[in-house]
Amino acid sequence: MTIPAVMPTYARFDLAFERGEGAWMYTVDGRRFLDFGSGIAVNALGHAHPHLVKVLQDQAATLWHTSNMFHIPGQQKLAERLVANTFADTVFFCNSGAEALELSIKIARRYQQSQGNGRYRVITARNAFHGRTLATLAAAGQQKYLEGFGPVVEGFDHVAFGNLNEARAAVTPETAAVLVEPIQGEGGITPASADYLRGLRAMCDEYGLLLMFDEVQCGVGRTGKLFDHQWTGITPDVMAVAKGLGGGFPVGACLATEKAAACMGAGSHGSTFGGNPLAMAVANGVLDVVLAPGFLDQVNATAAVLWPKLEALVAKYPGVITEVRGRGLMIGLKCAVTNSDLVKALHAQGMVTVAGGDNVVRLLPPLTIGDAEIAAAIEKLDGACAALSAGGAA
Ligand SMILES: *Cc1c(COP(=O)(O)O)cnc(C)c1O
Repeated sequence: MTIPAVMPTYARFDLAFERGEGAWMYTVDGRRFLDFGSGIAVNALGHAHPHLVKVLQDQAATLWHTSNMFHIPGQQKLAERLVANTFADTVFFCNSGAEALELSIKIARRYQQSQGNGRYRVITARNAFHGRTLATLAAAGQQKYLEGFGPVVEGFDHVAFGNLNEARAAVTPETAAVLVEPIQGEGGITPASADYLRGLRAMCDEYGLLLMFDEVQCGVGRTGKLFDHQWTGITPDVMAVAKGLGGGFPVGACLATEKAAACMGAGSHGSTFGGNPLAMAVANGVLDVVLAPGFLDQVNATAAVLWPKLEALVAKYPGVITEVRGRGLMIGLKCAVTNSDLVKALHAQGMVTVAGGDNVVRLLPPLTIGDAEIAAAIEKLDGACAALSAGGAA
């Protein structure tokens, strides 16, 4: 037998962690790493946050799972809080980002059918990432992820991200919805402009399309608002959320307006695990912290300290990094070197980051970092950049 016991679908780093505390993680062989990846924007409150540990332990000793045959009070509570703090009127709970997007796509189709027309196509952006199910792969349309998995799910039209004219030109009598990330994450931390989102909103209203945002990566406080689109005041009809929502516990959510979701009656969708009491306890615990007065102000204050220091590194090491982009604590460092070389140089400094598209290194620290973590991050980034400029082509 030559195949590993764990199906080898990931190119993993030669690191294994056994413990985490705040923004720090410790390897099985005792090395300490500053975590500026947060498990890809998941551990929004860092590792072993005392409130999350408590709510999970309390729930673990009480009730784990009942199935959605029954009312689940934690769902009611979490849904009411999400509704109270967003555009949405109603929420479906699932376990991942891809599942939240699958439902978004299903709602787009069923909404249009409920309006008495056969529209089913969704306009999506190039360089997007929406997950690894057959429909979400088709939605993003990235060839490298679709390889070998054909036939591709039908019904997606891809346009250039940020180009409103292309989006308008792609509308046909079969178009049901538009789906975009307000900030493309995997694509390389590329924010959409407020004008672009406003233009998509107007286009959707004009043609009777649903506007759907994928905030799986940029949501839940990551950019200094509960959800990133709230910086613009432009609201979608449907939104997919996951990653940070559970702070490390698997949970996803599809939020929708009453108008969009009126077609989703009993029996129209479901999930065995979705919204189980454990997940709801932890997600409610995340919101306890993120919605507490002052928390998002603190995220913005942290970003305001971090960004100029990163920009100073760009000025100091133009042969290594050339741009800081993103919003809040969703940050992309555009690299002049190969991004994976910077990721590895940072490992040597004891810091974890995440590579992204467009030769970017993503900084996605816990939202709870303070001055000490910022100072440590800048020191490690400086060390990695210095090592790369010394050994590189410069
Ligand atoms: C991670 C991600 C997804 C997929 O989430 P999974 O939980 O891995 O299914 C979808 N959209 C965006 C923007 C993401 O960053």
